[in-house]
Amino acid sequence: MTHEDTKVIPVRVALRCRPLVRKEINEGCQCCLTFVPGEQQVVVGTEKAFTYDYVFDPTAEQEEVFSTAVSPLLNGLFKGYHATVLAYGQTGSGKTFSMGGTYTSSQENDPSVGVIPRVIGRIFSEKEKRADCEFCLAVSYLEIYNEDILDLLSSSKDKPAISIREDPKEGIKIVGLTETRVFSAQEMVSCLEVGNCARTVGSTAMNAASSRSHAIFTITLEQRRGVDSIVSKLHLVDLAGSERQKKTKAEGDRLKEGISINRGLLALGNVISALGDESKKHTFVPYRDSKLTRLLQDSLGGNSHTLMIACVSPADSNMEETINTLRYADRAR
Ligand code: ADP
Ligand code: MG
Repeated sequence: MTHEDTKVIPVRVALRCRPLVRKEINEGCQCCLTFVPGEQQVVVGTEKAFTYDYVFDPTAEQEEVFSTAVSPLLNGLFKGYHATVLAYGQTGSGKTFSMGGTYTSSQENDPSVGVIPRVIGRIFSEKEKRADCEFCLAVSYLEIYNEDILDLLSSSKDKPAISIREDPKEGIKIVGLTETRVFSAQEMVSCLEVGNCARTVGSTAMNAASSRSHAIFTITLEQRRGVDSIVSKLHLVDLAGSERQKKTKAEGDRLKEGISINRGLLALGNVISALGDESKKHTFVPYRDSKLTRLLQDSLGGNSHTLMIACVSPADSNMEETINTLRYADRAR
């Protein structure tokens, strides 16, 4: 085992820049980011440079992102570490594309599929390889919208209220949330599809609410060998759009200039920067400031690995939001 394997590096940051999309090309947008081959660095405009653990330029394939940045977390997961993958960025920057949040079973073998279906494939191929070990797998899928938790796998009409409790032994427990046992990759994909459907239906009703909500797909893995059992959790998170939301006219002219930023994203930034900063090692980590950070509490820091995939558009028209994302991600390192 190498040093790298044993040392827990709590948070790693990947910067991913998508290609210009059709609409941006049609509007004559120029690319405002440059990448130096072989350097994990991105340069904005002509001067400001940012360095991350990984930098994926617009030519990077899904497979590369998965094998370089996500795969090490899965190695840890099989050894009993919790893991969290978060996709951060403004709406339209490639979060859902990167996470594979709209995957359906009809896309099997499609090279453009993202993180979640690749993780599912890897977990079941690992299960096959380990005949001496019994794998028990369960998934849950939820959405946080306006600090409310919605169960995306609940089939009942009147959904029970969901609350977060801290169990001294078992850690964070989400009371009332559906946890579905799965026995095959196909079953796990079905859960993803069911949850995505629930998400879409809700968001049309709430008018683009999905860009303001966090979606968390959680896989719980229990590995049993004889009397030994290790349980590890993997959270795959498609975060709310990071763009600042201008208050609507309806809220009154007086507030027109006001801006609000998603509470979860703010809290997450504070938690992650506290974790990444050695000098703050023994200081207070503000998990309780949002539902998002409370839910992820035992998978951020401690015995766990976190990867933040910061997604950006290369278009000059998005430069302001892109710089905000680069700064947020820089603070997370
Ligand atoms: P978000 O979830 O952040 O709002 P999406 O994932 O929906 O953004 O991406 C916006 C658009 O850009 C989609 O049409 C998506 O297919 C495309 N896109 C995003 N990332 C990439 C990429 N790396 N390569 C090609 N197309 C991408
Ligand atoms: Mg999205």
